[in-house]
Amino acid sequence: MREILRKNLDEVIWNIEQARVEVSEHHIVKLVAVGKYSDEESISTLYELGQRAFGENQVQQLQSRMKNLEKLPLEWHMMGTLQSNKINKLIALRPSMFQSLDSIKLAEVLNSRLAERDQTMSTLLQINSANENSKSGVRVDEAVDIYQEIVEKFPQIKLKGIMSIGAFTEDRKKIQDSFEATHKIYETLQKDGATTCSMGMSGDYELAIKCGSNLVRVGSKIFKQTKGEYI
Ligand SMILES: *Cc1c(COP(=O)(O)O)cnc(C)c1O
Repeated sequence: MREILRKNLDEVIWNIEQARVEVSEHHIVKLVAVGKYSDEESISTLYELGQRAFGENQVQQLQSRMKNLEKLPLEWHMMGTLQSNKINKLIALRPSMFQSLDSIKLAEVLNSRLAERDQTMSTLLQINSANENSKSGVRVDEAVDIYQEIVEKFPQIKLKGIMSIGAFTEDRKKIQDSFEATHKIYETLQKDGATTCSMGMSGDYELAIKCGSNLVRVGSKIFKQTKGEYI
């Protein structure tokens, strides 16, 4: 298992390296390994192989993994829809980053719960860059205004940038269009302090990097065996 994880991780790191130098030698990309289909043993093996940042999409699973792996100096990212009954639990976990702030309404509740505890949280605004009904996130044409409104109104929320899931299609051009639209928004928001542009998953992280992503969230490419089963 260790050898498969090593091979997968090396391959992803190599591909990231190739894609990022095409943008610029100075373009640094962070890899967040998304362990949601995998187990704690694989995560701790990846830690031994040098990986530090991990992501989960369920608060419950994030909680148990953070607890069981608390001896390791890992950086934890929460991504995916946050149900309102899980907000307090997430705040108590103090994740490094919450990547899926997807509405003003959630920002308002999150901000007041954080204020009660005198805490802040680093977050990304999730953008529904292909305007797909199936996905959460703010609309492309509203993203800049919403970002600025959150910065102004909700001081406990430390917005660090944006996150997006590429268009759900086999058409590479459409995926690229959605990444380019998201990156444009990111460029606009840099003057408001945005430093993270989180785009790209197992199927499209190289393309995302070429479109300017500086954080990729890779799950199956790292945790899957060649046969297709998860480790
Ligand atoms: C699961 C997930 C990923 C990783 O997906 P893979 O295609 O397995 O790499 C990335 N981002 C989010 C929000 C996810 O839920």
